[in-house]
Amino acid sequence: MTYEEFYMEQARLAEKLKKEKQVVKLLLLEKSGMTATELYINYRKKIPVEVRKKTLAALDEYFHHNKPVQYLLGYTYFYGLKLLVRPGVLIPRPETELLVEKVLENIVGRKTPRILDLGTGSGAIALAIKKNRGDALLTATDISALALGVARKNAAMHGLDVEFIESNLFASIPGKYDVLVSNPPYVSRDENIDPLVSENEPEEALYAGEGGLSFYREILSRAREVLFDSNLIALEIPENKDEELSAIVKNYFPESEFAILKDLNNLSRILIIRNDWRI
Ligand code: SAM
Ligand code: GLN
Repeated sequence: MTYEEFYMEQARLAEKLKKEKQVVKLLLLEKSGMTATELYINYRKKIPVEVRKKTLAALDEYFHHNKPVQYLLGYTYFYGLKLLVRPGVLIPRPETELLVEKVLENIVGRKTPRILDLGTGSGAIALAIKKNRGDALLTATDISALALGVARKNAAMHGLDVEFIESNLFASIPGKYDVLVSNPPYVSRDENIDPLVSENEPEEALYAGEGGLSFYREILSRAREVLFDSNLIALEIPENKDEELSAIVKNYFPESEFAILKDLNNLSRILIIRNDWRI
């Protein structure tokens, strides 16, 4: 069987199952170790048994076992960076790119800002910020050693200097920062979410108590401990809890200026709190 025959056969199957044809190509490239050009040049050649087997195994997971493509490929893209992901580590979401964008916007003019990314997962937020602001000093934490392992690999892969610390919330954070950024878990236990997410992604990255808001209360009640007086807090938030979130902010930061920003779908997604923040 040639690469072409194999591709055509699996692409047809994808169509029949109403799955993405493009995934067949991406998995074939990943499992064969070839670039798209190499595949094109070798299209009429025989596909090695090993490559066929590996690709079929991954395609079976995609077609029949509801597995996210990103885990099968072992990577995804976030803010233009290719990042490794694996089961046990949250797949970075496009919405979170807006959080990065807002942090970058708010630190324009601030030299060497110290930035803490709490719950960094694959390292997505910290690495995207560092990539775009080489002078920023980034610390990224997570409670999951597995996630930190992946985040460290991602940092090394891109030659980005980020300090990684294993920490349960603020427990092991040594320094003080200008900016606290976080995309904490915020799915409520009684929420019905896409099985592709709930069946595959780590529980501790998704779910939070108090109707999904426990991390906001915990983070905002203690944020001052790790922040300088002039500081910026930028958090990703669930789309339907503006009132509850505003109440938490007013409780812990009664004097502060804050805003809830919408994402591309016009849903509430980012909470920004500015404490005496001048740039
Ligand atoms: N920042 C990544 C992103 O945006 O793709 C991951 C976000 S994920 C929604 C939340 C992350 O917080 C997970 O990596 C999870 O392991 C971590 N986490 C959960 N509980 C934590 C805790 N108590 N302290 C620190 N990190 C925690
Ligand atoms: N956006 C994720 C989802 O689609 C949730 C991420 C989070 O809890 N921070 O379920």
